[in-house]
Amino acid sequence: MSTLIGQIRASIPFDAPEARICSGSCQGCSMKLLDFLASALEDCERGLNAGVKPTLKDLSRLIRMARKVHDVLRKNGLVDAVDPTSPTAAEIRVPGSR
Ligand code: SF4
Repeated sequence: MSTLIGQIRASIPFDAPEARICSGSCQGCSMKLLDFLASALEDCERGLNAGVKPTLKDLSRLIRMARKVHDVLRKNGLVDAVDPTSPTAAEIRVPGSR
């Protein structure tokens, strides 16, 4: 679970400036989805720190959520087209962050 959380954190531009996130024509609100996913990751980390063992269902739910958020961010031009939970996610680059 902590590996997955790290992979998602490294792939999703949580720290992108608001001016970049709110760039105009949005297909889904990137800002709200980033907040939603950040809260979900914090909940997972709190659980891990409290000694809660995640189930496969928990992992699957987090992967699905990250993929959906990533898909909207991709449509809004905030990330490239690589899935954050795929084995090649380490190659993900955020447009404009090079
Ligand atoms: S829809 Fe969301 S991301 Fe887009 S401009 Fe409005 S607040 Fe920003």
